[in-house]
Amino acid sequence: MVISGMSFLLILPAMILLMVVLDLAHCGANSNSLALESESVVQTLKDLEANIPVIGEQVLQTTAEKVVETGDPLSNSRLTVRDDMQCRMNQICADYHKNTGLKVECHIKSVESSADPFQIEINSTITVSKDRVVHEKNLTQYASLIDPQYPMLNPLPFIKCKNYGGAQAVGNRIHFGSSLSAYLKARDVENATAYENASTALIIKKCSYDPYIMHGRGDTVPPEICILKNCIENGYFHESADGSCFLCRLEGRGTCPHYGMETFIVPCVSNNSSLTFAPSSIDHVIFNDTPPGTGIYQGKAIIYYSEGSNCFKMFLDNSHRSKYGLPPFYE
Ligand SMILES: [Zn+2]
Ligand SMILES: [Zn+2]
Repeated sequence: MVISGMSFLLILPAMILLMVVLDLAHCGANSNSLALESESVVQTLKDLEANIPVIGEQVLQTTAEKVVETGDPLSNSRLTVRDDMQCRMNQICADYHKNTGLKVECHIKSVESSADPFQIEINSTITVSKDRVVHEKNLTQYASLIDPQYPMLNPLPFIKCKNYGGAQAVGNRIHFGSSLSAYLKARDVENATAYENASTALIIKKCSYDPYIMHGRGDTVPPEICILKNCIENGYFHESADGSCFLCRLEGRGTCPHYGMETFIVPCVSNNSSLTFAPSSIDHVIFNDTPPGTGIYQGKAIIYYSEGSNCFKMFLDNSHRSKYGLPPFYE
């Protein structure tokens, strides 16, 4: 059969239409699989992103535990934590690659102190790719130091007292035995014996009595300053420009340039109320890093609770009295 020129011209538009439709179908299938690939890449990126602060908390917790165990300070806590996190993330990325075939990379760029002393800043870059689809994301995230799932130990007293007999973790507190008074005696500090059998908080917890001046409140002031007593019993930490940050605590620094935290170091219960002056019961005063003895200043006794002849007291300087809403003293 001979197709006339006329009929060929009639068929031609139909053929062109068919070709276009086929091409479109092909294109559609292609962009569909592209969408699927992109979806798995984005999901993996999201998973990794959620993982980083958790890994950060786990690494910080283990790091602090090691320091508490040995009493040895880290020479560069930011690098140690960064490297340990990198190691953990490498493993996680390898697992993702094995399970999904995606190419996954996570670079932990830095670990830093943050403006909130109860958080650590983590900077990273995640890259997830499959064939032509590549997603890269730069992240700044925060690991919490007060997540009840990963309680952080306060490493500083263990480092500072290592050479004076050591500090002991007992329940939720750190017991100094004779080590803290020995540490203070070695610095020629007056009334160092006030800290015989003293104790302080073991786990970092953020004080809920905010603003801090409410610490001075009590039903009967004195002998019971309830809020201060509750704060001490809970082992709370407070924001402080003078106290060291968590990462510097891991290096054994009692003070540092970052915005940090402070907690009370409490003398043991006594029935001797004659001692009126001793080093101020704030950890950054007692563990001050200035040349031995020079930065440790005295505070005056303040009784926050008494029970029969048992006297619960601390020693506080006027600037900390004012910070916590307690009455000043005049020498
Ligand atoms: Zn408090
Ligand atoms: Zn610091």
